[in-house]
Amino acid sequence: MKFYKDHYDVIVIGGALAGLSSALMLAEKGLSVLVLERHNLPGGIATSFVRNGIEIEAALHEMMSIGSKDHRLKVGKFFDDMGVDIDWLKVPEAYHASLPGLEVTLHPGFETFAREVDQAVPGTYEKVMDVLKLCHTVFDSVNELSIHPMSKPQMLLKHEAFVKTAGYSTKEVLETFHLPQQALDLLSPYWIYVGSGFSELPFTIYAVLMADYVGYGSYIPHKFSHEMSLKMAERAEDMGVQIEYRQHVDKILVKNGRVTGVRTARGDEIHSDYVISSSYPNNVYTHMIEPLSEVPEKAIQMVNGRRLSLTAFSVIMILDQTAEELGIRDYSVFRGETMDTDQCFEELKGLGPYRYITCICHNLANPDATPAGTCSYSITTLPRVDGWKTVKAEDYDRVKHEAAKQLIDDMSSYLGFNLLDHILEIVIETPMTVARYTDAWNGCIYGYAHTMEDHIVARLQTAEEEKFIEGLEFAGAHQISGDGMGPAVTNGRKAAKNVLDAMIAQGRAQGR
Ligand SMILES: Cc1cc2nc3c(=O)[nH]c(=O)nc-3n(C[C@H](O)[C@H](O)[C@H](O)COP(=O)(O)OP(=O)(O)OC[C@H]3O[C@@H](n4cnc5c(N)ncnc54)[C@H](O)[C@@H]3O)c2cc1C
Repeated sequence: MKFYKDHYDVIVIGGALAGLSSALMLAEKGLSVLVLERHNLPGGIATSFVRNGIEIEAALHEMMSIGSKDHRLKVGKFFDDMGVDIDWLKVPEAYHASLPGLEVTLHPGFETFAREVDQAVPGTYEKVMDVLKLCHTVFDSVNELSIHPMSKPQMLLKHEAFVKTAGYSTKEVLETFHLPQQALDLLSPYWIYVGSGFSELPFTIYAVLMADYVGYGSYIPHKFSHEMSLKMAERAEDMGVQIEYRQHVDKILVKNGRVTGVRTARGDEIHSDYVISSSYPNNVYTHMIEPLSEVPEKAIQMVNGRRLSLTAFSVIMILDQTAEELGIRDYSVFRGETMDTDQCFEELKGLGPYRYITCICHNLANPDATPAGTCSYSITTLPRVDGWKTVKAEDYDRVKHEAAKQLIDDMSSYLGFNLLDHILEIVIETPMTVARYTDAWNGCIYGYAHTMEDHIVARLQTAEEEKFIEGLEFAGAHQISGDGMGPAVTNGRKAAKNVLDAMIAQGRAQGR
């Protein structure tokens, strides 16, 4: 029996959130789609693993853009529309901020959030509401403009706040509200989710982040992030997508500037009109295109010109008592010695000590997250790629254990008990773990950094110029919508849309 068809409309490299979103959308249009995934499971980072019979979430803290059943946001709506039925659980709080002079738990919903900030820093309610309302206006504009692009004069008329703030950093815009420093500190913890200090982070990105997470709250799937990838893969197969696991794509075949298919590590040559790659452009343009002479100089300039964003260092533990017994009260804690985001970002360059961390206790949103009488607790920091790249193989274990010990000691002093006395299982994930598991370039989980020169608005404008090889699209955290599981879905949909638009232009597919 022949394993592959002679030809596919589209081959998707990588069966994780981005790749599977592309596959679902293309299959819905009746295209023949092959997904090749190097692992024996779908999901990439959206996965879980089992230790001593306990299933453990590998990554997810919280998903953005899901929304409630009655008011779905774009990612939640996509899952619903595609018939991927996820059992979403709402995360009970925005976060607990453990910052100098502040121990404050904040909940989603603009008014609630502003009221709680006001309780901690009296007299700030109105101004915090003004910040959040501005964020929401920009968020609405971004959502509309990403579907209905318009000319600059039209934009000025309809999306004034978006246009006015688009050229400014988060620091510049927040300063105009003249809030006391502690209130600003309470508005800052999510910065790490987009990985740039506020003087470099475009306000547009901050606004979307705050409006989405604070305005609508965040969600997790009941059966871990793997619930998403498993159900997406199942649904895709129902819709006729062929998914083959343990198939590493080695080469993307190109002839006269156009893709013709791929070759797997096993040596299968498979033909298609389009290829969507979850692998980073850095990897594709320097190793995967065959022949490499088909890679234009500008593609190399593009990847060299972009700065890779953050990696993850995470200590994931199963503890021997319940959260209640241990006195763990918060689902999510952001903890730092300073909330100067530029300084935090600078410190993430090294191998520790890490002084800005985020911790999660899944049981507080999902009582079934671990077996009765136990709970999970993870401590994560998001180092820049620079530091971990320098670690020699012979030093890896020591560096990893030292960094983990520092985080455990820090959180033990915060929690008021020694975590080391309660660990049933422990897993330490480093940038190397992610690099080895997903082949992400330098172990980067967040794609390319958002900066004032290179961000979503600028990328939308240069997207066409960055199509260097006809028929080749990219889907993943490295694409326009940026990092995270929700944006990975959006990026996957965008790659599929690009393929569909190209086919419609050639008269080969029908518009939506
Ligand atoms: C510890 C940690 C915590 C995180 N927490 C959150 C969070 O709370 N919220 C959030 O939104 N995001 C979080 N993230 C980030 C998020 O997981 C990623 O941004 C997102 O999952 C990226 O999805 P992706 O589809 O782009 O890529 P990946 O998940 O990296 O998937 C790429 C896929 O492609 C496959 N592949 C790659 N190359 C090839 C090849 N050549 N041939 C075949 N297959 C290939 C890989 O095996 C993999 O399955 C976290 C990440 C980590 C590590």
